[in-house]
Amino acid sequence: MEHISYKGLEFEPYIKNEEIQKEVKRVASEITRDCGNEKPLFLCVLNGAFIFAADLFRSVDFESEISFIRYKSYSGMSSTGEVKEVLGLTESIEGRTVIIVEDIVDTGLTATQLIESLKTKNPKQIKLATLLFKPDSSTCGLVPDYVCFNIPSKFIIGYGLDLDGLARNLPDIYILSKDNK
Ligand code: 5GP
Repeated sequence: MEHISYKGLEFEPYIKNEEIQKEVKRVASEITRDCGNEKPLFLCVLNGAFIFAADLFRSVDFESEISFIRYKSYSGMSSTGEVKEVLGLTESIEGRTVIIVEDIVDTGLTATQLIESLKTKNPKQIKLATLLFKPDSSTCGLVPDYVCFNIPSKFIIGYGLDLDGLARNLPDIYILSKDNK
């Protein structure tokens, strides 16, 4: 893995795809242990979680469904602090176990708002699975149920995560380099 550059910014290699796959399998087995008999609905939060959700969903072999929802709170490299629903949920989740699948929990604002809105639809329970968690950025006291990696409060790209729409197709994860001025 080598340094890469997007929009004039340098990024360093951070997590290799093989490591990601190992942690995805670990989280899949934790979900299987907790929710394997629940016929849960996996709810992938677009756009960033689509690759993680595809790998996670293919790593569980119990009966389950997947659906997609889209919120927007980021512009460039910082959160706007305002979360907008762009694509909503159409399925009924009444009495069901819902597993939210996030790419990253940063301030926790997006996931907290989503959980609050899902609770009004009377699910049996809501679980939150995230590829990445920045515990030091969390402002909502939200702790995800399933986490592949805890990371520092730095900007990440690759494996679904973007910089203004770019870099989602990188198989590995990269972190903003200290060398950027
Ligand atoms: P939160 O609402 O928890 O502050 O942010 C959630 C969303 O912000 C994530 O779903 C993701 O789209 C975006 N985000 C937060 N941190 C990063 C990051 O380090 N890199 C990228 N590419 N997006 C991030």
